Amino acid sequence: MSFGGIEAGGTHWNCAIGDGGAEPARVATFPTTTPAETIARAVEFFAAEPELEALGVGLFGPVELRRDSPRWGTILTTPKPGWEGTDVAGALAAALKVPIALDTDVNAAALGEWRHGVARGLETFVYVTVGTGIGGGVFANGRPVHGLLHPEVGHMMVPHDRARDPFAGSCPFHGDCLEGLASGTAMRERWGRPGEELTDPEAWELEAEYLALGLANVVLVLSAERIVLGGGVGRAPGLIERVRPRLQEILAGYVDAPAMRDMATYLVPPALGPHSGVIGALHLARTSC
Ligand code: ZN
Repeated sequence: MSFGGIEAGGTHWNCAIGDGGAEPARVATFPTTTPAETIARAVEFFAAEPELEALGVGLFGPVELRRDSPRWGTILTTPKPGWEGTDVAGALAAALKVPIALDTDVNAAALGEWRHGVARGLETFVYVTVGTGIGGGVFANGRPVHGLLHPEVGHMMVPHDRARDPFAGSCPFHGDCLEGLASGTAMRERWGRPGEELTDPEAWELEAEYLALGLANVVLVLSAERIVLGGGVGRAPGLIERVRPRLQEILAGYVDAPAMRDMATYLVPPALGPHSGVIGALHLARTSC
């Protein structure tokens, strides 16, 4: 019995076939281009698997997740050109003729870490990814949180000291929300160079400041038992080590739980590295049958 999983992100799609465990048998990664081209590449990959039982999809958002909605599986108000209104789940189901299990890309990553990684055994935790954008998969009481649509951790508002950082922010909807100030896109626009080329300690201090402010809100609102920090920028060498003490400083000892005393085990990188999402999507497929 084999399952398919897609971490359908805004920059890349990671596709995998496997039995739903931590080690997929076959994987493919390609860039997210136009909807028609990207979906066709995924269909081609999975169509070669004759025994496919179900497909799990972790889709970039905002996306409609309510199963009873006629827009289920459709991308909503995205700034990503061409994708708004695309019925991704419908197109995949029509082409592959298998049941589709759907969640956000970040909830899928959280699911991967919950099943096979650093969030095993936790009831309430958050997976935050910092890359081109910022997103957060939220688990509460052992289940992914959906609500109205799904949490939008990246678009929370954080204090913005314009004297220290005059950059107006890169979010097309809010300007200086967390994503607008701390995503890879924001770093590139503020400093004129991508994050991986930034060696200036000031750039990384500022990045750590915004992430610590955002994560403090995550701790305070959700009472998360652990936070996983992933994504291309989130996993940048040395960043998590800057965020941990600042997060503790901002919280000022107020959340007096044993887990908060050791930031090295509270704020952690994903155990599955860049594969949390696709492994979570495979798990989503397996548990849908
Ligand atoms: Zn925003």
